[in-house]
Amino acid sequence: MAYSATLIPGDGIGPEVMDAAVEVVEATGVAFDWDRQEAGMGAYESTGDPLPQATLDSIAETRLAFKGPLTTPVGTGFRSINVRIRQHFDLYANVRPCETLPNTHGPFEGVDLMLYRENTEGLYAGIEYFDERNQIADSINRITRRGSERILRYAFEDAERRGRKRLTLVHKANILKETGGMFLAIGREIAEDHPDIAFDDRIIDNMAMQLVIRPDEYDAIVTTNMFGDILSDLMAGLVGGLGVTGSANIGDDCAVFEAVHGSAPDIAGQGIANPTAVIRSGEMMLRYLGETDAAEAVRKALHDVYSEQANLTRDLGGTASTSDFGARLADRVRAHV
Ligand code: NAD
Repeated sequence: MAYSATLIPGDGIGPEVMDAAVEVVEATGVAFDWDRQEAGMGAYESTGDPLPQATLDSIAETRLAFKGPLTTPVGTGFRSINVRIRQHFDLYANVRPCETLPNTHGPFEGVDLMLYRENTEGLYAGIEYFDERNQIADSINRITRRGSERILRYAFEDAERRGRKRLTLVHKANILKETGGMFLAIGREIAEDHPDIAFDDRIIDNMAMQLVIRPDEYDAIVTTNMFGDILSDLMAGLVGGLGVTGSANIGDDCAVFEAVHGSAPDIAGQGIANPTAVIRSGEMMLRYLGETDAAEAVRKALHDVYSEQANLTRDLGGTASTSDFGARLADRVRAHV
């Protein structure tokens, strides 16, 4: 059986890195029936809409998308396409694994962390007011029981599936007593249903410091939208940056796997971009589909190719092209399945 999935190559380096990612994902032997669709600047130029209805219809049908980076047209008044996709399909869990690969020269060895970020509410819900007369601007930090329960349940369940031993809830409940307080209280409630995972909590500022001093003490982290936005990039920095970390946006019955880096217009079309981030997202997509052996094959192959050093792309000091790297990795994947 082939999985139906919407494939959005995206803008800039998108088509180059997504070609390599599709080659690697398919090298696992898991079959996909790709529905190629446009989004981003390319779609805007050809259809007048950076997120065409046909693309939304395709995702509504397949409930699964694999997406390259998109250029958000500047000065056209369009909202971020990535945010629109997340809102349209109510993709409430942003999942960001951060695992060190060999030879990436991050500040630490052996980091292996999961981050679960609530993706739909909090300060990023977009509830803002501006009182022009008094020059006062407000953003509403709305946290709901429903929103908190679903991200916390997802975090516990996914951490369990991945064999994680500990989940740390990050908050600022000492100051944000209602919003942070409710999120923490719900976390404690849900922890009772998951006795096999050690549950604790940290205040956000302390957590930021702890992560850059001793990341190995942590295993999985769950937090609200804005704290998660900041911590997820901080954690990417622990393992070599946005070029090597994958990302998934997951809802109840729909998921989008995407690059966290942008469309890199400065190097687009040169065949030198590093496809690791979207390959990591492809690995996450396989895991989401329950194709755990295939996902593990991709993970092991990445470790092999990064250990060899000879086939790395230019951003990591190598000379391999995007397609050379993809082909070498696909070979290694075939050796692991
Ligand atoms: P960027 O991530 O595209 O590039 C920043 C720097 O990192 C550049 O020097 C680029 O060459 C390098 N880089 C990025 N990805 C790389 C890769 N895979 N391999 C090697 N080098 C890589 O960020 P930007 O320049 O701020 O944004 C460019 C465009 O991308 C903007 O239109 C922005 O809106 C969009 N963007 C999209 C997403 C997304 O779709 N997920 C995320 C961020 C930015």
